[in-house]
Amino acid sequence: MNSSCLFCKIASGEIPANIIYQDELVTAFRDIHPVAPTHVLIVPNKHIESVSQVNADDEQTLGRLFIVARKIAEIDNITDGGYRAVVNTGVHGGQTVFHLHMHVIGGQRMKYPMG
Ligand code: AMP
Ligand code: ZN
Repeated sequence: MNSSCLFCKIASGEIPANIIYQDELVTAFRDIHPVAPTHVLIVPNKHIESVSQVNADDEQTLGRLFIVARKIAEIDNITDGGYRAVVNTGVHGGQTVFHLHMHVIGGQRMKYPMG
């Protein structure tokens, strides 16, 4: 837990959020500024700053992000339509909150190309 980190505080319950799934490794909650009908963030409960800081000990937690992305899609009924799972990393990647998170975005056709 990083005491100055917004997503650590959401995962620990210190700051409220619209949490739709939580287990011992990850927490999923609705993005406060959704860009599509479904916009959910899945975060490790443990503070990991970004993909650039992951290590082998995090393998189970990082795998869980994808398992939970599938669950979120099922909860929001977007599995068949499809969706985008994105992890922004660092300044050029568009990361603004420096606690690793996966965006699950769907419910409408995504724009392409990215970048
Ligand atoms: P990123 O730009 O990839 O770092 O994404 C950060 C995301 O966090 C943005 O989509 C924000 O809208 C979202 N966000 C920021 N504060 C909150 C909050 N308190 N609750 C939910 N989502 C948030
Ligand atoms: Zn954190």
